[in-house]
Amino acid sequence: MEPRVTAHALDPMSPAGRALAWEGRPFPRRIGVFGSTGTVGLGGLAVARAHPDRFVVEVLAAGRNVRALAAQVKEFAPRMVVVADDTARGELLQLTDLDPAWVRVGAAGLEETAAASLDVLLQAVAGAAGLPATLGAVEAGTPLALANKESLVLAGELVAARARATATPILPVDSEHAGLFQCLAGLASGRTIARLILTASGGPLRGRADWADATPADVLAHPVWRMGDRITVDSALLLNKGLELIEAHALFGVPYDALDVVVHPQAIVHALVECVDHSTVAQLSVPDMRLPIQMALAWPERLPATVPALDLAALGRLEFEAVPEGRHPAFDLARRAARTGGTAPAILNAADEVAVEAFLAGRIRLGDVPALVAAALDTCAVESEQTLASIARADSAARAAVTTELGRRGALGVASRGDGRG
Ligand code: MG
Repeated sequence: MEPRVTAHALDPMSPAGRALAWEGRPFPRRIGVFGSTGTVGLGGLAVARAHPDRFVVEVLAAGRNVRALAAQVKEFAPRMVVVADDTARGELLQLTDLDPAWVRVGAAGLEETAAASLDVLLQAVAGAAGLPATLGAVEAGTPLALANKESLVLAGELVAARARATATPILPVDSEHAGLFQCLAGLASGRTIARLILTASGGPLRGRADWADATPADVLAHPVWRMGDRITVDSALLLNKGLELIEAHALFGVPYDALDVVVHPQAIVHALVECVDHSTVAQLSVPDMRLPIQMALAWPERLPATVPALDLAALGRLEFEAVPEGRHPAFDLARRAARTGGTAPAILNAADEVAVEAFLAGRIRLGDVPALVAAALDTCAVESEQTLASIARADSAARAAVTTELGRRGALGVASRGDGRG
């Protein structure tokens, strides 16, 4: 009798399954960098700069950081540029000699440009604003190196379904998913997978019993990764890891029962794949986003490093621990929203964004954030179908629910604690 291990297969038609089987495009590759002035975008341009014979930057998109964008335009001479609005467009045209016909604005500009003929698009727009760009690329069959988490959190079912329909490969840039991708690349197809495991650093509050009363300053001191403020708070709450389970489900088409998380403070092991024979394959590297960015832009080739090598002897030890039961209510809420599906993740995401803003402004305790998110998930109606319209409805309902609750608590726009950042 065979032992009882539930066996799963990577879905070859899933967006990341397509990417694993992708033969790639010839070099030099014409790339686009969306969110070019953000951390991941800058990493993408650093990779392009390090490999000028491999990549030609054809498209740049940024929001309102026009000065930084103008410097990038001068360095990389892209064919097309997208900015947030007409004001930013006017400023950019003054600072550069770009042809006005090739400077687009807003979500429509992103969507249209994502459909332009590119070999791979590094999609690193911040937040929900990234969704139209992801869908634009997927509809046009533009291979995506996807860093915009919200595309897969809010609309994972929609994006995955459209990517299946158009056979668009999506290469993960989020470090844990890029880790899973690399582990899976070495495994035979078929029912070989027992579990896909993401690591969580645990953030600056790991092991702190008084986490619910941590200040914004405590939370923003992340020990390993430098990230935006919201994602750093989400990471301290382990909510970010819950969102990453939703991402993994959309990318690899593996059921939630086969997705797991282990805490690993050093953030050297990014992901592991446990096979049915209980052999475990792991991906290790220094925690530096340029590695997953370069991997995704060059896949399936490997280019010489832009990051330092791993020195295991110098590190000495790697530690792992289970996610402590009951200690991370936000993580449990994310898992609940993941399994509910439909617009539940959009409710979770919007409620968390408003609650985290209130926390960062010193108006509520960190411990109030999961409570506010739970209240939104309890009160807002979930629609089972993900469309841009249903996601937008869920988003505004959740924002309204949290704003009302903040008002009821007297925590709306008035500092109730002394540790806010003004
Ligand atoms: Mg991550």
